[in-house]
Amino acid sequence: MSTRRDLLAGFGVAAGSVAWPIATLLAATARFPLVAFEFDGPGPDVEATLSLSQANGALAPTIGQTQGPFYTPRSPRRRDIRDAFPGDSALIVTGYVLDTRGRPLAGHVLDFWQTDDAARYDGAGYRYRGHQYTDRRGRFELITIAPRPYTAGGQWRTAHVHVKVQGPGAPILTTQIYLPELSELNAVDSVFDPSLAMAESGSQDGARRLRYDFVLADA
Ligand code: FE
Repeated sequence: MSTRRDLLAGFGVAAGSVAWPIATLLAATARFPLVAFEFDGPGPDVEATLSLSQANGALAPTIGQTQGPFYTPRSPRRRDIRDAFPGDSALIVTGYVLDTRGRPLAGHVLDFWQTDDAARYDGAGYRYRGHQYTDRRGRFELITIAPRPYTAGGQWRTAHVHVKVQGPGAPILTTQIYLPELSELNAVDSVFDPSLAMAESGSQDGARRLRYDFVLADA
């Protein structure tokens, strides 16, 4: 599997002979990191009814957080990222992708990844990984299970869902969103930020619903 690291290593081999074009390419890549997915328009309509309040002044962009060590590029396109469903009750996260003026952004990609019910990331395949596109009204819907807290590399982490959000030709927002009920665990995770906690949004057909709206910085 080719990774950005592989690509950069490959560039390094040739750096002596064509240094200037490579430097130019790397500068462009730093501004707009390699796009992992094609942009071919909005995804299918999300059925959930989501209120959208009028923005009262500029919205603060969603803050970025570390990607962490468990990202796998080229996840499958799907809104339901459950595999071998373990009988856990479903968690459905819905929301908008917005610009800083509160306008919904259609056809933007969201690439989610998280732990399974045993606090493990799938490093070999794509369990609990998937990307999707916002619908024509700028909405997304992630169907999953609750992520689990874990310890990796000596660092303890409260439960979270990782995500990358991107529009065509725009920078990638890489961040993490958090379960609101884990306030005590969240408070002792140095990575946690309260602005990234999802909001309770009721339940429907036995599935718990949470809400989070992403706000992308102006490109
Ligand atoms: Fe993580």
